[in-house]
Amino acid sequence: MRKLLAGVTLFCTSAFAFQGTAPVPLRGYTPEHSASEVSWEQKYRAIPEADRIKETMRRLALRPHHVGSVYDKDNADWLLAQLKAYGLDARIEEFTTLFPTPKSRKLELIRPDGTKFIPKLEESALKIDPTSGQKDEQLPTYNAFSRDGDVTAPLVYVNYGAPTDYEQLEAMGVSVKGAIVIARYGQTWRGIKPKLAAEKGAIGCLIYSDPKDDGYYVGDGYPEGPMRPADGVQRGSVMDMPVYPGDPQTPGVGAKPGVTLIPLDKVDTITKVPVMPISYEDALPLLKSLGGELVPENFRGALPITYHTGPSIAKAHLALAFNWDRKTLYNVIATIPGATLPDQWVIRGNHHDGWVNGAGDPVSGASAELDEARGLGELLKQGWKPARTIIYAFWDGEEPALLGSTEWVEFHAEELSKHAVAYFNSDGNGRGYFRAEGSHQLENFVDSVTKDITDPETKMSAYKREHLVAIARATPDTRAEVRSRADTRMPALGSGSDYTAFIHHLGISSINMGFGGEDQGGGQYHSIYDDFYWYTHFSDTDMSYGKALAQTAGTMMMRMADADVIPFQFTDLADTFKVYTNEVKRLADTMRAQIKEHNTQIGEGTYAALADPKKKRVTPPVEALTPYFNFAPLDQAIDDLSLAASEYDKAFAAHAATAPAGLNLQLIQSERVLLDPGGLPSRPWFQNMTYAPGFYTGYGVKTFPAIRETIEQKQYATVDTQISRVAAAVKREAELLKSATKTLNGN
Ligand SMILES: [Zn+2]
Repeated sequence: MRKLLAGVTLFCTSAFAFQGTAPVPLRGYTPEHSASEVSWEQKYRAIPEADRIKETMRRLALRPHHVGSVYDKDNADWLLAQLKAYGLDARIEEFTTLFPTPKSRKLELIRPDGTKFIPKLEESALKIDPTSGQKDEQLPTYNAFSRDGDVTAPLVYVNYGAPTDYEQLEAMGVSVKGAIVIARYGQTWRGIKPKLAAEKGAIGCLIYSDPKDDGYYVGDGYPEGPMRPADGVQRGSVMDMPVYPGDPQTPGVGAKPGVTLIPLDKVDTITKVPVMPISYEDALPLLKSLGGELVPENFRGALPITYHTGPSIAKAHLALAFNWDRKTLYNVIATIPGATLPDQWVIRGNHHDGWVNGAGDPVSGASAELDEARGLGELLKQGWKPARTIIYAFWDGEEPALLGSTEWVEFHAEELSKHAVAYFNSDGNGRGYFRAEGSHQLENFVDSVTKDITDPETKMSAYKREHLVAIARATPDTRAEVRSRADTRMPALGSGSDYTAFIHHLGISSINMGFGGEDQGGGQYHSIYDDFYWYTHFSDTDMSYGKALAQTAGTMMMRMADADVIPFQFTDLADTFKVYTNEVKRLADTMRAQIKEHNTQIGEGTYAALADPKKKRVTPPVEALTPYFNFAPLDQAIDDLSLAASEYDKAFAAHAATAPAGLNLQLIQSERVLLDPGGLPSRPWFQNMTYAPGFYTGYGVKTFPAIRETIEQKQYATVDTQISRVAAAVKREAELLKSATKTLNGN
């Protein structure tokens, strides 16, 4: 077979023939070390087994396993036993954090004639789905970290409850003051909906799943299809995590026993108004009761009604009370000590807690992760010794507020700041193509690994498939770049999973990854139907992509742990930061042009022409134009970084093979230097000046957030200061690279 292949290369292009005879060594490896690494990695990738991953999923998703449940602890103990059986040094690390659960939930619609509609607030057990009937152990449908409250008021429909939705409503003269808003799930992270509703003067918030977004409009409802059935409900946290995630009572500190707690009434990340999720079956009579104007086109869902804004004449009564208990979390942590560089840590994580049975979220990721740990255990027995220390984490309490990972990172902050090289996260998995987001010094590294992973269905490399999908999805403007750019452009990290504390609080380079996009999902999300039956019928049914995830993430861990020089690459980073710079400049220009147009229309009387006293439409006030900001410090810093990055690359190409060990310690700092201890405006916990979850988008990332958000929020007076702070962070990166280049060049 080998002979035959060698013959074939003669007819190939010279580049391929060259690769065939003398493989290009892995970045950060000497040629000899690269060859042995490649062979260990190949051995590793032969180990993960789809059937084992399936059995792990069956076991972990067998019963509801939310924080504080019997089966959450049982799963943690089982994971621990597996890791020990693989020969790994494993332990459970406990924290105690706030985790509210419902004491009572009441919702009713009181009609003017005194009759009532009482929603059922419950998902149905299905005969065909064996775990859907575990009522005694299931958490009721609720939003964690809603405040207690008892409110009665008319309803107003606010679409997704995003900032732009309120702008549209305000232009129509619709106010939510004193009302209970009803918003649909989607577009923004759910915690933004009650946050904005409260800011706009509402006194309560309901969130429902419209069939247009994850129900019958998209695909067949469960159990015939994968989408959300009429009484399916999305649970989820509504804590104000863009301020800080983790235990609300111990920000910045690991929640170990004896730690001083902020009193509950002083915690500002619990919602300001009571909020509850409901199904579309329960929402329908509420939406039907709405009077007022017809909604704009983009507010319309797929229910068989004409959507109105409200207010309703009928009143909704929402009464919620919670048990504000502190519960124990069980993080399961396994360590493989590094043979030559034990003080440099490479960390992998996926959470193990679910809202209910959580087969897709998180068990599909956690099962793959467990098989990675088994694979590395096998290699250890065969004589492999990673250079760096490898840590495998199975986090608890991700669903309520990234509790387990955040408390762990806060508790170990000092060591992690010194030792952590990179963090690799997943949070579930599905069928389809590979997707990653994260720190841009890892962009090249991620591609280097996915080039070695075979997509189970197309048999092309995971890289190739991802790349072709990116070309297919590109706009005519961006397609040429997608084709020609050396590395796949990687989106930045916002929030929504356990990488948050690593990258945003401590400045540890991070990647979040998984397969997906070809399974029809979303309708089971955070409901009792996200279980083994659902997953094995509608997602990665044979776990071939679970195996692919184990191969991908495990290879990343090995390649990062074994490299002589940490394989960060910085021209991609500089290029990405340049894109962000252009974006924030364009944002200021676009806002200025929009306000100018708005003021012109006021002068021309267009608003007056549309005014209608019956509909309360009024002419809005003239607005001050967005001023011109001083982007010069940032432009200068980006130029410096671009130059420093390409100088580093040249030096790397010439001298990486003989690099002194000190170089790695410099490279570890390459995300840390992007931190500013002052943090982002009004949220000091978030210290990374280059990426953050948006203050008003939740999960959605804002790049150069201090600049972008002060412009968006029209806090013009502080923008120049924020530009200087970001420029200083970029400048620190450039200086770090200059000194790393000196180290490489031996001077
Ligand atoms: Zn998850």
